[in-house]
Amino acid sequence: MGNELIQITAVSQPGLTGEPQSSPDSSSGGLKTFYIETFGCQMNVHDSEKVQGVLLARGMKPVGDHAQADLVLYNTCSIREKAAQKVFSRLGAFRKGDGGAGKVIGVLGCVAQQEGERFFERAPQVSLVCGSASYSKLPHLLDKLEAGKRRVSGLSLDTDECFETELTRRDNPFRAYLTIIEGCDQRCSFCVVPMTRGPQRSRPSEKILAEARQLVDEGYTEIQLLGQIVNAWQDPSSARWSFAELLSHVAEIPGVRRVRFTTSHPRFFSPDIVQAIDAHSTLCDQIHLPVQSGSTAVLARMLRGYTREEYLEKIHCIRKARRTISLSTDVIVGFCGETRQDFEQTLSLMKEVGYDQVFSFKYSPRPNTLAEANGEALAEEEKGRRLAELQELQRQIQVRRNQALLGETIEVLVEGYQVRLGQAVGRATTNRVINFPGSPEDIGRYLAVKVTGAGPNSLVGARA
Ligand code: SAM
Repeated sequence: MGNELIQITAVSQPGLTGEPQSSPDSSSGGLKTFYIETFGCQMNVHDSEKVQGVLLARGMKPVGDHAQADLVLYNTCSIREKAAQKVFSRLGAFRKGDGGAGKVIGVLGCVAQQEGERFFERAPQVSLVCGSASYSKLPHLLDKLEAGKRRVSGLSLDTDECFETELTRRDNPFRAYLTIIEGCDQRCSFCVVPMTRGPQRSRPSEKILAEARQLVDEGYTEIQLLGQIVNAWQDPSSARWSFAELLSHVAEIPGVRRVRFTTSHPRFFSPDIVQAIDAHSTLCDQIHLPVQSGSTAVLARMLRGYTREEYLEKIHCIRKARRTISLSTDVIVGFCGETRQDFEQTLSLMKEVGYDQVFSFKYSPRPNTLAEANGEALAEEEKGRRLAELQELQRQIQVRRNQALLGETIEVLVEGYQVRLGQAVGRATTNRVINFPGSPEDIGRYLAVKVTGAGPNSLVGARA
C-alpha cells in the first residue's frame, strides 16, 4: 500500500511502455549509463519507472550497480525519519571515496524537496536535487549538467502539471502502476506529503483511459491506479467523470483482469465506489482505507476530517457489498497526546473491523508539519510497546481470518516462483499471497488454487 517500503533497482528485462522520444544517436554526451534506487511507496516506485523512461528516451542505458553508472539517482522517501535517513547513508558511501569520482549523483523525491538546495552543503557530492513536482523538468536539468553546470535543482511546488512521459520502464511484467492524481491538498497534521509532493492535480480521464488501453495492448492484465489520495481524483476534462465512473471505465477495458486503486482517504470514500465494485468483477475485492487511529479525539488532532463513527459507517457500507471485500489499513501509534484510552480505542476498532492487513507505524515527528508544533510527544519505548501490542492483536486477527478460508478455491495471479522450495507465489484478488507447488512457467498465469493451510501473513494451497 502507500506505505510498503520497497527498494528497486534497474532490472534486466523491463516492460517498456511507449516509443522513445529520440534515437540513441541523439543521446547525451557524457551521461551514458544510469543506476536508480528507490525508497518508499508505490508512487515513488512508479515515479522511478517514469524517470527511467526519460533516461532511456535520451539513449542512456540502465546498469545494475552504481559503480558502473555515470548517473546515480536516489528516489527518496521522507514519510518517517528512518526512511529519510537512508539516502544519507547511501551518500555517505560516496563521501568515503566509494567510486563517486566522475559520476553525477542526483537525489529525487521527498527528501530532495524537503532539504532543497541545503543538500548541496550537506552532501557536496550531489549535483542534482529534484522534487517530484518538477520531474517534467528533468530533461532540461540533465541538459544543463551535460553542458557542464555543477549543480542543478528542480524544487518549485507551484505547478498544475502531472509528470507525463512518452516512455515508462515498468518493472513488473503483469501489474502496471498508473498514476491518476499527484500531490495532496489535505493537511493531516502528521504528514509531510503536501509539502514534498505539492498541490493536488488530477490527470484527465481520456489520458488515463488511453494509457490503460495501451497497457492492456502490451499484455498487462492488472492495473493499479495510484495517487496519494486516489479517490480525491477529479476529472479536469469535459467528461467530468467521478472517481467511481473512472474505475468502471478502466474495469470495462477488454482484456483487463484486475484493477486495484490506492491509497483511498476515508473522507472521500463514497458508496458509489462500492457500487462500482459490485458491478465489475474486474475491480478487485480489496480496499485499503487508512484509519490512522480509532480515537475521535486523536483523529481530530490529526486533522483527518472524520470521526471513528463516520469511518465505521464507511466500513459498514463496504461490508454490505455483494462480494466479500478484503480490508486493509494504516495505523499510527503514539501520536502526540495519545492516551492509553485512545490507544485502546484503536485496538477495539481493529477488532470491530477485522482487517486482513494492517500497516502500523510509530509516530515519527516530521519537519514543517502542524503536529510538530502541537503536542506532547510520547516516549519512544511507550510507542514501541503499543506498536508491539497492536501488531500481536492483528497477527491473531489475521490467523483467524486466513484460517476461515481453508478448503476454499481462489483464483490467483502467479507473480513468482521460489526455486529452492519449488513453490509458485500467487496473489488473490483480495491481495492475499498463496504459495503452492508449481513451476516457473506458471508465472503470469491466472490459476485456481485450493487453500490447504493458513498462517498470519500468507496461505498455502494446491492447484484445484
Ligand atoms: N495519503 C494516504 C492517506 O492520507 O491516507 C497515506 C500516505 S502515507 C505515504 C502512508 C502512511 O504512512 C500513512 O497512511 C500513515 O499511516 C503513515 N505516516 C505518515 N506520516 C507519518 C508519520 N509522521 N509518522 C508515522 N507514520 C506516518
